[in-house]
Amino acid sequence: MRDAASPDRRTVLKAIGAGMAGLALPRAFAAGGRGARDADVIIVGAGLAGLQAALLLQEGGLDVLVLEGNDRVGGRVWSLDKVPGQPEAGGAEIAPAYARMHSMIQQLGNIELASWMQYQGGQDFAILDQGRLASLDEWQKGPAAARFDEAERARFGRMGPFGVALSYLPRPNPLSELDSWLDPRSAVLDVPFDDYLRGRGASAEALRFITPHVAAGSAHDISALDQLRSARFMEAMGALNGLQIFAQGTSRVPEGMAAQLRRPPRLRARVSGLRTGKDGAEVVLADGAKLRARYVVCTVPLPVLRKLRIDPALPAPMAEAVQSIPYSSSLSIFFAIKEPFWEHDGLPQAIWSRDSFGRAFVRRTPRGEHLWFYKAGASAIPCKGLSQAELMKRATRELHEARPSTVGRIEATFAVDWDANPWTAGHLPYRGPGHVSRYGNVAATPHGFIHFAGDHTAVTMLGMEGALESGERAAVGILTELA
Ligand SMILES: Cc1cc2nc3c(=O)[nH]c(=O)nc-3n(C[C@H](O)[C@H](O)[C@H](O)COP(=O)(O)OP(=O)(O)OC[C@H]3O[C@@H](n4cnc5c(N)ncnc54)[C@H](O)[C@@H]3O)c2cc1C
Repeated sequence: MRDAASPDRRTVLKAIGAGMAGLALPRAFAAGGRGARDADVIIVGAGLAGLQAALLLQEGGLDVLVLEGNDRVGGRVWSLDKVPGQPEAGGAEIAPAYARMHSMIQQLGNIELASWMQYQGGQDFAILDQGRLASLDEWQKGPAAARFDEAERARFGRMGPFGVALSYLPRPNPLSELDSWLDPRSAVLDVPFDDYLRGRGASAEALRFITPHVAAGSAHDISALDQLRSARFMEAMGALNGLQIFAQGTSRVPEGMAAQLRRPPRLRARVSGLRTGKDGAEVVLADGAKLRARYVVCTVPLPVLRKLRIDPALPAPMAEAVQSIPYSSSLSIFFAIKEPFWEHDGLPQAIWSRDSFGRAFVRRTPRGEHLWFYKAGASAIPCKGLSQAELMKRATRELHEARPSTVGRIEATFAVDWDANPWTAGHLPYRGPGHVSRYGNVAATPHGFIHFAGDHTAVTMLGMEGALESGERAAVGILTELA
């Protein structure tokens, strides 16, 4: 199935593969159109989606200007190069199925990958359950495990209680293809995830373990179809030992992409409005300046798009989708490891919890190691509105309480709250119950001369590869209109 907003793939490949470098622009556009314009295409946002669109449009012979509000490129790809252990604040892992990312890595030439499994995989974890920390084995013998019924206890695998909840997802996945979530026949699955799991036999205890880890913070507020789409995507990503990380940091990819642009992205250029007219589009900057182009590609995440003034307003179903599609919350608090605390309590290095605590992992990369304390969904909610210093203080206290062996052996170095980030105002998009049936992928529909991209508009892939896919779709949409 192909979404109405996505171009025919063969047109893409024919156009781009056949060397769009020499694309003959329509005479009227090439000859008469450029004079009064600041660029042929203005891209809003220098994340992976915006940069991918920019490079493809440049390859198609167009003059492209990228406007980025932040003082760096990359968006939700952000390697914290100056923080001990050089953590990743955003996108980190890629799979063999990330075809566009691998092709970009080849194109850039100087990007080194490392095996996720070698550096970060295979970690055992301790379970923090109602304030008590235990190894998985210990936990399975204790009273907490008895809250599951016998059939569920038999399902405990390496993931323990978390695996039980996931084991209620059907195999094979009812979504046969990566884009089957958009097939109208999948609408029966567009229901609250907790109802869906209950219908498949999950106990209240299994649901309690899955809830803190779903993006929405409540399994009732996320669609089962969204979760099945994620599971289908994970299946397509293949075995864990195929995962890779970026040896010198993921940010080297967007930085390398930006360096290939003839016009360097304009940083600290905050866009506040977009206008589409009879023969082109206009971008309004926060300082009131106006820039004109034949086309605009807007790649900002939906919580930011909701605040842009768009003239004329988006049509009803699209406007509603832009307002309604939610983003999850996530907080990452990073710690330098002064001494291996796990050697002092004999417990596994990583901690998983069903409590508001979240999860903590020792992360190793070719650039060093650090402790990553991650709170997503429900576990992020109690920390909403805290400053960076307060977050680091609170996280340190929580870790010390949960795991006394960390006292004096870790030191908070940096905290990232994606909700509080003005350029994102959220972590990742997800769909609530009924959203896919109501909105499909309407957020990807062009509005006059304004095209949209960003991971929230991807049809088949998710995450970084979804962002690249979306940039490609928008670029090809424009090139196809011009051809
Ligand atoms: C904690 C975390 C972990 C992740 N881990 C993974 C992973 O392991 N693997 C994976 O594949 N994906 C992962 N992802 C997802 C991945 O990082 C994103 O899907 C992807 O980077 C999104 O790219 P994008 O271009 O669509 O959006 P963004 O990267 O958000 O880019 C949007 C750009 O628009 C700019 N912008 C916003 N507002 C304005 C404005 N008003 N004017 C001008 N510019 C503006 C922003 O500054 C930003 O640069 C993770 C994300 C997070 C947050």
